[in-house]
Amino acid sequence: MTYENVKIHPAVDNGVKHDAKADFAGGTLTCHCATDKVEVKVGAQTAHNHICGCTQCWKPDGADFSQVAVVDRNAVEVTAHPEKLEVVDKDATILRHACKACGAHMYGRIEKEHPFHGLDFIHTELSDQTGWSEPQFAAFVSSAIEGGVNPDKMDDVRGRLNELGLPPYDALSPTLMDAIATFNAKKKGVLPA
Ligand SMILES: [Zn+2]
Ligand SMILES: [Zn+2]
Repeated sequence: MTYENVKIHPAVDNGVKHDAKADFAGGTLTCHCATDKVEVKVGAQTAHNHICGCTQCWKPDGADFSQVAVVDRNAVEVTAHPEKLEVVDKDATILRHACKACGAHMYGRIEKEHPFHGLDFIHTELSDQTGWSEPQFAAFVSSAIEGGVNPDKMDDVRGRLNELGLPPYDALSPTLMDAIATFNAKKKGVLPA
């Protein structure tokens, strides 16, 4: 290991845990408040779990990257203290519902027409259960500079991500970029709908 001193996110800094369970049926996310925690029940396994360098995703204290996955929005239900939730930025594509008291993002939802409509964005580190899908890549890595990472450190950051088996991309992964382009091509009639 050459870049082990480069910190990415607590969930992967000691190596990506390969503990996803094939039959995993979900769990409960809780916010960071000491009392009256917001609770969100997620009744399904997540997909496309990844590390994200964008400035909008929620990050734990001190981390330069977030860890975020998607799940069917019909599997997401707020089960405690919905009154503590507010949308961080009402103009953003992903409406991130965060706890007003501790700041944790409990789920992000897309309400407009979009390739990822129907999927909620969640941070499975807010859950005590193990078995969630594992991070597979790193998205929007260059955007970490906008989050305050020194541009001179980016070779080390990408080196560490590659070392962890998380290929770094400056947009989403090719699979997800292709999904977006396919959606747009169908909308334009380039591909049959
Ligand atoms: Zn909270
Ligand atoms: Zn992000």
